[in-house]
Amino acid sequence: MLAEFNLENILSRDDAHVVGIDVGGTNLRVGVVNGSGLAWEHRVQADFSRMCRELPAEQALVAIIEALATGIRMALDQYPQVNAVGIGFPGFIDPTTQQVAQSPNLPGLLNVDISGPLSQMFGLPVIVENDALAAAYGEYVLGGLDVRSLVYLGLGTGVGGGFILDGKPFPGFHGVAMEVGHIIVEPDGRQCGCGNRGCLEQYASASGVVLSYRELSGRHEGDAAFVARQAELGDAHALAAYRRAAEALAQGLASILKVLDAQHVVIGGGMSLAWSLMQEAFHTRLQQDLIPVLRQRVSVGISQGGDHAGILGAALLGHAAKLRS
Ligand SMILES: [Zn+2]
Repeated sequence: MLAEFNLENILSRDDAHVVGIDVGGTNLRVGVVNGSGLAWEHRVQADFSRMCRELPAEQALVAIIEALATGIRMALDQYPQVNAVGIGFPGFIDPTTQQVAQSPNLPGLLNVDISGPLSQMFGLPVIVENDALAAAYGEYVLGGLDVRSLVYLGLGTGVGGGFILDGKPFPGFHGVAMEVGHIIVEPDGRQCGCGNRGCLEQYASASGVVLSYRELSGRHEGDAAFVARQAELGDAHALAAYRRAAEALAQGLASILKVLDAQHVVIGGGMSLAWSLMQEAFHTRLQQDLIPVLRQRVSVGISQGGDHAGILGAALLGHAAKLRS
């Protein structure tokens, strides 16, 4: 079973070179993936979050497509033999139409076609998938684990998730499966952008940690990395902020596992770098919240691929789309 998920096996058969792109809030991470792994990588700076706040959505869309085209062009300059492109994009991707049904990067725009124009521009198959689902697939392949079902939770600006079922990414019928950042973990808690209160990402994301720290300490400076440094210096408020993040994550995960009964869990995203601050509170709360039959029976690991999981997963999904085309 394991050999099936070996990169070499997946990509070497037809000497594939695939571009994988991970679209973040402030940059594009572009890579070329082949049978030996990530052959080339580059970051294209593009402040999407700011662009989408300041520009009308239609203009933001043009700018996003231009930035993606720049990334693909740079990859093609290095590897002209590239034969497919996979893009991990934040938002709901309709599994039937391949359109971006809705995205925080494109407020107000619905059902946007990103793959079509790029595919036409470069004469290559281009697939767009949810960024967390692409990262989940990357972790699944990279981890080389003998598992059939994997839950991925990405802790970054928000909290994203992806589910691999029987070795395949599971997007759900509307492309909304594993929208875990909005599981409610604190009834009547912090107001969330989705309109509800007490969502997981209000506590377990980088901005959630900062909010917790500010509430507890009354200090109004620094980002999540600053709070992590304070915690390492023994600051009680900073430690408590990470503990709250860990507990919220465990609460959310316990609910997810009661629904999906997955075999393995991977925690990724920038916040996973501070896992040592979260680990203990996370495991204690997870065992409490799980039902007895699942306690101590689900393995949890930290991301193997880090930044690269998203690029790799997107590339592999691009490759799969090429084989179907
Ligand atoms: Zn929410």
